[in-house]
Amino acid sequence: MKTLIIDVIDPKRMGELTTVSKYFGDAPDILALGAGDIPGQFNKAYQTNEKIAVNLVPAITQLIQDEGYEVILLSATTVGAEIAGPVAVGIGAALISEVIGIDDNHTVIRPLYGGKAVGKYKIVKYPVILTIRRKYFEPAELSGVTPASMLAVEKSPIRLISEKTQKSEGIPLEDAEIIVSGGRGIGVAENFAMLKEMSDVLGGAVGASRGAVDEGWALPTQQIGQTGNIVAPSVYVAVGISGASQHLAGIANAKCVVAINKDEEANIFNRARFGIVCDYKTIVPVLTEVLREER
Ligand SMILES: Cc1cc2nc3c(=O)[nH]c(=O)nc-3n(C[C@H](O)[C@H](O)[C@H](O)COP(=O)(O)OP(=O)(O)OC[C@H]3O[C@@H](n4cnc5c(N)ncnc54)[C@H](O)[C@@H]3O)c2cc1C
Repeated sequence: MKTLIIDVIDPKRMGELTTVSKYFGDAPDILALGAGDIPGQFNKAYQTNEKIAVNLVPAITQLIQDEGYEVILLSATTVGAEIAGPVAVGIGAALISEVIGIDDNHTVIRPLYGGKAVGKYKIVKYPVILTIRRKYFEPAELSGVTPASMLAVEKSPIRLISEKTQKSEGIPLEDAEIIVSGGRGIGVAENFAMLKEMSDVLGGAVGASRGAVDEGWALPTQQIGQTGNIVAPSVYVAVGISGASQHLAGIANAKCVVAINKDEEANIFNRARFGIVCDYKTIVPVLTEVLREER
């Protein structure tokens, strides 16, 4: 089937989408967002320097119609979500978001009810647009580069003039193998420094529950959960987090959860492989020191 991958230039993201494209047979084409070489050997490549995703919608809609793409794949990221919805409306296609599984019969799986259940959808009509959740598919190795032709982006009547990106330090949460997250139980903004220290020792990133974000102790970009980042680290350390279902929805694919909470009844312990019942202020500095020595 004629497939188009759309994503920013990132070998991991493009690799994951290339893996998914193999379920649809034909070698995919790619539309790369941003400047730079396009990793991998694609059938045909397009590129655009337009940074604001929503401004690309008319041009992408036109491209899909002109070329007759049947399957359009994007990562389930902010950029992917901004493009997928309006393009689906423009081309009259079905959109299945946050896909976490697929088989050769084109049945796709996506989480429902904040990850408490999964839904299976058989694709029976094309074109279809799929946004693919990060880290659920092994990224294909992309060797070499594909030369691209520039996509003509006309000025649309409704145009976003500028976007301000909030820069977060260190490893992006979605790529982090180790995340140390703090919740409302941290009590004061300054004590997030303890979590930063631990995550630095482990080479990880700092996340937060909505409780901590609502208190203003962490940035909204650090929020993990149903309305925040969906992460899939090898190790997730939840400090002073109760384990509300909306938070757990963001760590459904975390491999090992370590919970530190002073309430032994806290729901986070039901999700954790290792649990420490105590005041975090007692254990976090000690753990950090031990981990530092062990490195
Ligand atoms: C539509 C909707 C979407 C939502 N989306 C999200 C989301 O994306 N992400 C998210 O996180 N939440 C989300 N929420 C909010 C969610 O329901 C919870 O309110 C939130 O996760 C609670 O955050 P918390 O665990 O940090 O705080 P709390 O529930 O207040 O828990 C604090 C925990 O800290 C422990 N604690 C206190 N002091 C200490 C100490 N000194 N040492 C150790 N432990 C201590 C307490 O025992 C407690 O378990 C959403 C809610 C709704 C309705």
